[in-house]
Amino acid sequence: MIYSADFYKILGFRQVGESFYGKYLQYWLELKKTGEETVSLYAVVNKTVPLEAMKKSLLEIDGFENIELTGNTLVTAINIAGLATNETLVKSIDKIIKTYSKFGVKTVCQLCELNTPDGYYKYDNKIVPLCDDCVTKTNAKKDELKSADFQSYVIGSIGALVGALLGSIVWILIGLLGYYASIGGVAISYASFAGYTKLGGKSNKAAIIIIAISVLIAVVFAELAGLGIEIMKYLKSKDVQVSLSELIQIMGELLKEGESIGDMIRSMLLGLLFAGLGSLGLLKNISQAAKEADMKIEKI
Ligand SMILES: [Zn+2]
Repeated sequence: MIYSADFYKILGFRQVGESFYGKYLQYWLELKKTGEETVSLYAVVNKTVPLEAMKKSLLEIDGFENIELTGNTLVTAINIAGLATNETLVKSIDKIIKTYSKFGVKTVCQLCELNTPDGYYKYDNKIVPLCDDCVTKTNAKKDELKSADFQSYVIGSIGALVGALLGSIVWILIGLLGYYASIGGVAISYASFAGYTKLGGKSNKAAIIIIAISVLIAVVFAELAGLGIEIMKYLKSKDVQVSLSELIQIMGELLKEGESIGDMIRSMLLGLLFAGLGSLGLLKNISQAAKEADMKIEKI
């Protein structure tokens, strides 16, 4: 029977799930049955593939059905209905690969899309061809992320807090100009992220908590500072001078009245919402990095 389990033994491929992986005639390939009578050949290739010209050549090969480039993956479908034996199928695959070669198509590493792969690896829940370089780099990056120590957290936290407080200046300024200060939440979260990474904070799950706390502190600070400045401005217009402790006392009295504290909490919550929305992209980066640190990379 054509395309039986033995077929892969001819090529020396390895089975994982429904696919077969291996190196054949210097090409790293994945083979998979993609239809009742169709077997597809997947190859991660350098992007300069003259698809149309290649197609013309490939049409002369027995069983050739279709070729397409999806991202960096060249997919060649072979119809096995008309091929008599496993050997004729192998012959067709030989010819297809020789056509790849003739048109300068090379199989490359999924990550750098440049180097020749060292083999197929389990990476990010997929099986992809990777080169030595990328495997080493990915593992080194993983080790570095995992090595986040206490000191990097402390210094990173200081950066996150200082950044967030600097960002709160934007909040205060927007408020002074008479606009909705809460929009400044975006600036606070950005500045906090920047501060954290500038001082060497590692991108991992703890970073999200550290930054969230810094943003919260900065939002409360900005809102209180904004209120304090408003009061100062008002008193100055009445020619009244107050010390900082008197100002804090006045603010305390004011906040005891339910209305101002309600306004303040609304403004803070809105600010936190803006901070959250503003940092979605950054959060995605951090969680991606954290995921990479946990990712297993192993040769199949
Ligand atoms: Zn690579």
